[in-house]
Amino acid sequence: MPELAYINGRIMPIDDAVVPVEDRGYQFGDAVYEVIASYGGKMFCVKEHFARLDRSMRELNFPKVQIEGISRAANELFGKAKIERAAVYIQISRGVSPRSHAFPGKIPVQVVMTVRKIEEKNPNIRETGISAITIEDIRWGRCDIKTVQLLPNVIAKQKALDAGCYDAIFVSKDGIVREGSSSNLFILSGGKLVTHPLATDILPGITRALILDLCSEKKIPVEERFFDKSELYEAVEVFLTGTITEVLPVVQIDGRTVGNGKVGSAARMLQEGLLGRLKSE
Ligand code: PMP
Repeated sequence: MPELAYINGRIMPIDDAVVPVEDRGYQFGDAVYEVIASYGGKMFCVKEHFARLDRSMRELNFPKVQIEGISRAANELFGKAKIERAAVYIQISRGVSPRSHAFPGKIPVQVVMTVRKIEEKNPNIRETGISAITIEDIRWGRCDIKTVQLLPNVIAKQKALDAGCYDAIFVSKDGIVREGSSSNLFILSGGKLVTHPLATDILPGITRALILDLCSEKKIPVEERFFDKSELYEAVEVFLTGTITEVLPVVQIDGRTVGNGKVGSAARMLQEGLLGRLKSE
């Protein structure tokens, strides 16, 4: 029987199903999902799966979605596919919108489903058991890899906007300042520029590297070391760096004024130097 897909009300063969590249699930991992298994032509634990899907969406502040309608659509799709032993995959993304971290305005969510046959590749495993390895749980502690799994960044940015601010700065559980939601971060402290060292906790920014290079050229002392929130608050200057961000001064953090509340000379000079580099490339 056919393996089918569903996109926002349309049913089609699975191979014909495509989603727009600006789907937020694709761009940011800004999507939730469930997989429902069927046995003997009947989906199992349907109510529980839809309750969890609904909860996932509420936890992420998705717009209100008629979960019953989606459940009915899943049922219809599953009925059409007529696959006895199937995996019904349901993914709901925050919608399709020009790429921007902040939540989009009022747009419909994107609902995608597939029904696929479950093939028991190794029917013995429940008899023989399997082998496994242990691995450090780093979900998702690999911020050095530029993946589209940007949901924490999206949430951080939106929280900043909701608080009337421009951006958010990530701080670890034990108070270490990491980076911005889509930028690296520098502070001027103790007469030196300080930035988080390269590690799995930050993205190795191209702009960060350029800034470090500029500093060495201009003999500006820099330290790549950890610093905490109180040092951030007390810094003379704070600025973000990034490909789109360039050098962006931060003059207020958590309601406190940074330095004298004005754009500092280090940020100004580095922005100039950065643009100079870009023009000369
Ligand atoms: N950190 C994060 C989390 C980012 O998303 C970005 C922007 N891509 C950066 C840092 C800055 O990197 P780059 O200078 O390469 O743009």
